[in-house]
Amino acid sequence: MGKTNGESFAASLVLLIVDSPSWADEIRAQLMRSGYVLSVVTTEDEARNLLEQQRPDAIVTLTMDAKWHPSHAFGASFDSANRPLQVLVTEQMGAVTADQPADLVLAPSPHHVAYQLHTLLRLRAENLKLRRHLQEVDEEARRLSEQLLVQKRSSNEIEILKNAIVRNVSHELKTPLLQVKSAVSLLSEDPGNTKLIEYAVDATARLESLVKNITLLGGSLDINLGPVIVRDAIEYSRRNLRRIWQHKSDADRIAVVLQENLPPVLADKQGLSTVLQLLMDNALKFSKDVVEVSANQFGDQVCIAVRDRGIGIAREQLGEIFESFYQVDSSSTRRYGGTGVGLAIVRLILDRHGTGIAVDSHQGKGSTFSFLLPAVKL
Ligand code: ADP
Repeated sequence: MGKTNGESFAASLVLLIVDSPSWADEIRAQLMRSGYVLSVVTTEDEARNLLEQQRPDAIVTLTMDAKWHPSHAFGASFDSANRPLQVLVTEQMGAVTADQPADLVLAPSPHHVAYQLHTLLRLRAENLKLRRHLQEVDEEARRLSEQLLVQKRSSNEIEILKNAIVRNVSHELKTPLLQVKSAVSLLSEDPGNTKLIEYAVDATARLESLVKNITLLGGSLDINLGPVIVRDAIEYSRRNLRRIWQHKSDADRIAVVLQENLPPVLADKQGLSTVLQLLMDNALKFSKDVVEVSANQFGDQVCIAVRDRGIGIAREQLGEIFESFYQVDSSSTRRYGGTGVGLAIVRLILDRHGTGIAVDSHQGKGSTFSFLLPAVKL
């Protein structure tokens, strides 16, 4: 420990006594009294050997010869911020030349040497602390700018999706509208035509689904994160499904399996409910069996999964299903309802939560869609 005026800090020194000056012992004794940990050597080679084993704070060379230089730099293997300080103590201060590599040259006055050493080491320790702090600030700034980039990317994607929807929506709405219109006018001439009735009902379902998705999209992009109880979000989505799901009783096929003592998740309540609603809607549509919604904690995250045992998705289609207006089967709308926007919305909402969606699916066996959210510590 180096000590001056009651202040102290850990410091170790290599004391290199080159040509046994008469005042060396006094300086050595003063440094010991000041609490430094000293390793005393008498040759450059010994000093270098020590440097390979230790990381001293300073090398203090005591010599009568003011022109004394180490044959090559001490501490060359340390990085510049960590290298030991080099202090030369000599009685011929006036003869010291500008090429002297020492950081500090001092006259052989024991108190003065101890005091200067202490001041310099303390300043260096503070400098190091400041550097470390600056590094942390730098890292934080980098992290924030990365986060900003992700948000920017996500808002760009939202722009792209919004534009795609605006571009497609008039077309998407026009087609079923025209179909309903022509079916209704034909029905007025041929009221019993069941084919026409079916046609009109299909087109109406497509219109309804489009309107539903656009409404969901509109309501889900403002993300306000807070603790959300997963069971509440699932129940809320199930109630919504019951209200809009064509076959209301299908919502009874949903089984909720939650781990005991599941913590709340950090999410936007509306956004999470929309994600769950869209995933459950698909799972019910594309299967006839039980749909399992589960949530389990893994470390500081919660994995939420929606699993069905339905028709599944071919491997080569898995990359595409998250694109807006994409449907694996072009007759999907007619057969299952939907418009191909749901999973694009799911991806966007989760992206705004800083998470993604995983899908595991096998044709004819079923699909599992899952995502991670941070657990809230209670
Ligand atoms: P849609 O409104 O058509 O359901 P989505 O974007 O939600 O639109 O889904 C896109 C396509 O991905 C669907 O048309 C379907 O082909 C496929 N898909 C989504 N979820 C499932 C699932 N659980 N099982 C089988 N196929 C699915």
